[in-house]
Amino acid sequence: MKIYSLSSEIDPFAKTGGLADVAAALPKALARLGHDVRLVMPLYRQVDRKRFGLRRTRVSVEAPLGDQTLEGRLWEGRLPRTEIPVYFIDCQALFDRDGLYQEQERDYPDNLTRFSFFSQAALRLLPVVGWAPEIIHCHDWQTSLAAVHVARGALGQEPFFASMGTVVTIHNLAYQGLFPKEQWPLTQLPEAAFAVEGLEFYGQINCLKGGLVCAGMLTTVSPTYSREIQTEAFGCGLEGVLRARRDDLAGILNGIDPEEWNPQTDPHLAAPYSADQLAGKALCTLALQRSRHLPEQHDLLIGMIQRLAEQKGIDLFLGALEQLMTLPIQIVILGTGEPAYHRQLEQMAAQFPGRLAVNLTFDNALAHQIEAGANAFLIPSRFEPCGLNQMYSMRFGTVPIVKRVGGLADTVVDVSPEAVAERRATGFVFEEHSAGALVESVKRAATAFRDHALWASLVQTGMRQDFSWTRSAGEYVRVYERALAKAAHTVLHR
Ligand code: ADP
Repeated sequence: MKIYSLSSEIDPFAKTGGLADVAAALPKALARLGHDVRLVMPLYRQVDRKRFGLRRTRVSVEAPLGDQTLEGRLWEGRLPRTEIPVYFIDCQALFDRDGLYQEQERDYPDNLTRFSFFSQAALRLLPVVGWAPEIIHCHDWQTSLAAVHVARGALGQEPFFASMGTVVTIHNLAYQGLFPKEQWPLTQLPEAAFAVEGLEFYGQINCLKGGLVCAGMLTTVSPTYSREIQTEAFGCGLEGVLRARRDDLAGILNGIDPEEWNPQTDPHLAAPYSADQLAGKALCTLALQRSRHLPEQHDLLIGMIQRLAEQKGIDLFLGALEQLMTLPIQIVILGTGEPAYHRQLEQMAAQFPGRLAVNLTFDNALAHQIEAGANAFLIPSRFEPCGLNQMYSMRFGTVPIVKRVGGLADTVVDVSPEAVAERRATGFVFEEHSAGALVESVKRAATAFRDHALWASLVQTGMRQDFSWTRSAGEYVRVYERALAKAAHTVLHR
């Protein structure tokens, strides 16, 4: 099958979160299954053209946006260590900036221009390079307009696009791409599409909603989240739209990249280790304690790596911290995000020296070192579409402590007596979004840590889980087949 994947970030070219990981790992797994996959993303300033050997082509694409026409230049590269082609859309006026979507926590005011252009350019380059995919796979709001264009006759190039199936994947429903109605001309869609059954959302333009209404198939990144988003509590106002399309909505768990996250070969670690040879993990713990100025002791060392945002439950954690610090634990945090949380974490680090190490940067090497060096990993998310760190943790023999929500609920099995007896238990799961519940689960983990046989069983069960992309990629292929069948149906009945 020929699959074209549109994403606003792809690891390792540019990344702000899990979307970039998925946008790289899923295509690799699809290619391994024998599919012809190509990717496209904007050529941001952050993309290192030299390091990745990107090539500027002679191809340029123009796209009208309201009363202006913008031009983009096509660059080409490959996903590292693969033959998978990656197209980059170069438009300096839009993408040569300090941030991907924002600066100093403020979204760029012209984000609709930026991603409407990107969505159009990604489609318009296809006839030019002469590649006709069967599936257009759009990730998140930034590329959802592409699914709308294909469904609505594709920018005046209907014959080329008519038989293509479209899929929109929701990585996080909280980000919908909302813009004031006045910007409508930038979408290049007819007035009629600004309607309740189209992109209109409480008087604003909602890019993601367009994708959810128009795409042949919808997916999100875990089975539990696919059910949660059909409810008012998690639906962010789109629960009705999603309920109406529930038969076309699949929840497919993200996998992880087993090469990138492998404690046996990870170049960032002080020592390699595996489920059979765990000695190296203790050395990673020592190295982490040393580098973070924590005393070298045997208390439970808990890692946290996250965007410092309410979604991730950082406020809950801060509220519980004084109580947590009465337990025999050390905590290492790595994160960036809202300035208020930066300030509070710095204050707390000063209050608990030698117990709490705070790192307010984005640092991939340190992320690997924390995953390896920590004994446990805390994720107190308010909602979590899939979450990757709990899977990285298990693979690194680091026991997750998580809220029972979204993908966390689908991947971590709580330490109940039955689950332990059946060797299914992999972590500590708490139900209620409260400081009390969080503290209680950390207390359970600290107690279990002293029970060496129990802890070893959790580590071993976690390390032997299969979070590879192969299974999930197979599920995506079934979704693609359904999207394709729908496109054929639409063409026949047009
Ligand atoms: P989300 O996409 O909602 O932020 P995920 O758990 O799906 O959350 O993915 C987050 C990814 O970003 C993980 O790979 C995580 O390790 C990484 N990450 C988050 N914050 C940092 C940071 N400050 N430094 C390094 N990596 C980080």
